[in-house]
Amino acid sequence: MSDCLFCRIVEGEIPSDIVYQDESVIAFRDIQPQAPVHVLVVPRRHISGYSEANPSDDALLGAVARAAAHVARQEGIDATGYRSVVNSGPDAQQSVPHLHVHVLGGRPLSWPPG
Ligand code: AMP
Repeated sequence: MSDCLFCRIVEGEIPSDIVYQDESVIAFRDIQPQAPVHVLVVPRRHISGYSEANPSDDALLGAVARAAAHVARQEGIDATGYRSVVNSGPDAQQSVPHLHVHVLGGRPLSWPPG
């Protein structure tokens, strides 16, 4: 989708600080980090969000989840702890309609979230 910000990052049309990529996903640093580590894990193929996923996307969703865990290990926050977050829809303040998992860590994270 040419008008999708994260599709354009996937295509390399918009620069990003990529920390991990494979055939299914890319992971890059959030431009407005909310924690010392804040990485977005994004499927290369456009899916708007969990609500739009269907059974044929199961492998891709699994790849995103495994990549999030990989990024946490790579960033050295797997032992101290981290949060993986998917914002869905307006109440959750999803701003980019391309599925992405936020991986946040490197400081204690409060609960409940705001
Ligand atoms: P969400 O609000 O859950 O849809 O998350 C979208 C995230 O994308 C926000 O945390 C933004 O800071 C981040 N973001 C927006 N534009 C860029 C960009 N060009 N590069 C990296 N992160 C971005």
